[in-house]
Amino acid sequence: MTGPVIVGGGLAGGAAAAILARGGARPLVLERETEPRDKICGEFLSTEAQTHLAALGLDLERLGGAPIGAVRLVAGHRQAQARLPFAALGLSRRRLDAALLEHAEALGAKVERGTSVRTITADAVETSRGALPAPTLLLASGKHDVRGARRVEQAGVLGDMVGFKTYFRLSPPQLAALDGVVEVVLFAGGYAGLQRIEGDLANLCLVVRRRAFEAAGKTWAALLDRLLEEPHLARRLGDGEAVLAKPLTIADIPYGFTHRGRDERPGLFRLGDQAAVIPSFSGDGMSIALHSARLAAQTLADGAPAAAYHRRLRGDVGRQVALATWLQRRAEGWPGRHAAVWALGLAPAAIDRLAAWTRVPDAALRRAGLEPRRAAGA
Ligand SMILES: Cc1cc2nc3c(=O)[nH]c(=O)nc-3n(C[C@H](O)[C@H](O)[C@H](O)COP(=O)(O)OP(=O)(O)OC[C@H]3O[C@@H](n4cnc5c(N)ncnc54)[C@H](O)[C@@H]3O)c2cc1C
Repeated sequence: MTGPVIVGGGLAGGAAAAILARGGARPLVLERETEPRDKICGEFLSTEAQTHLAALGLDLERLGGAPIGAVRLVAGHRQAQARLPFAALGLSRRRLDAALLEHAEALGAKVERGTSVRTITADAVETSRGALPAPTLLLASGKHDVRGARRVEQAGVLGDMVGFKTYFRLSPPQLAALDGVVEVVLFAGGYAGLQRIEGDLANLCLVVRRRAFEAAGKTWAALLDRLLEEPHLARRLGDGEAVLAKPLTIADIPYGFTHRGRDERPGLFRLGDQAAVIPSFSGDGMSIALHSARLAAQTLADGAPAAAYHRRLRGDVGRQVALATWLQRRAEGWPGRHAAVWALGLAPAAIDRLAAWTRVPDAALRRAGLEPRRAAGA
């Protein structure tokens, strides 16, 4: 009998493969990349994501990662800092995704790297290596749609953002100033996240409105020049060195999207970014991807249809995605940016509420059979 076919070996696909394999199914993961690569991501691993990864049996300590216990919000010359209500980690996706996929393989999943799924049909997939039956299909291709199963566009989605990610080697004093902190720098038309990951590197990840990118000159070099007009980024990055020859980029990120699960075949499960895309500042996209994997595997084990899974996932994270999208819009203009920094400076404890409203809730983790990890800052 054909086991579940998983399209995409990122976090959602890797996690689903690990859970299904551990449960005795023989999932097949089709991943188009031949080897681990850098990914567009701020690489802020929230406590919810760590809870999921630990439950999969992944040894996070072995992977290293830079501890993060505070957030610093910056707009122009103003800044405010608050202790996070949990202990986060800065860990590269190259390292994390590879470890998860290897883990799934060790548990019995079959992983086929270098296979790209080109089309999804009623009960099969057409790949770069031929066609395969796939009555049960877990679509975990991230932000990339696959022909035959494109996501339905939704009103209210913030769809004109462009994302960039690169690594910097910072000067010792600037690296030390980032110790234990994730910095979120708000500027006209977007925001940037800066934090340490393993190996003394700093991840600079940003999203900008397309029109702001065009106004800056439509190239990475021009955008970086524009960013260096921000006093905080000029200080941090000014004497640093970019590590990647060019940044990773992604356009048209559908922030605010949540799959409604209508009119699809009963065996098609959308995981991760195929199911919900939360604004990046929340630092919880990875946790939603992992959560979706667990719910999909549980639904399959119960013999329930994909629609039941999609309803459950939407119930768990729909409100958080909508609120984070609303907040991202509010913080765009000058008053919103400065009000955000002012409010955090005035009431740093409010970060607890904000975190609770824009993340996978503890209750949802418990319903999925997990005990939330709370550490350091809690
Ligand atoms: C700018 C930015 C910053 C972010 N920062 C953070 C953060 O700091 N913290 C956080 O928690 N989240 C963050 N996120 C969100 C997070 O990166 C995603 O939510 C998460 O990667 C989703 O995981 P996924 O498994 O669904 O997709 P992915 O991780 O994108 O994996 C998809 C996989 O599918 C493969 N694939 C795609 N198409 C095909 C195909 N046709 N055939 C075969 N394989 C295919 C790809 O190669 C890839 O390996 C950020 C997102 C953006 C855009």
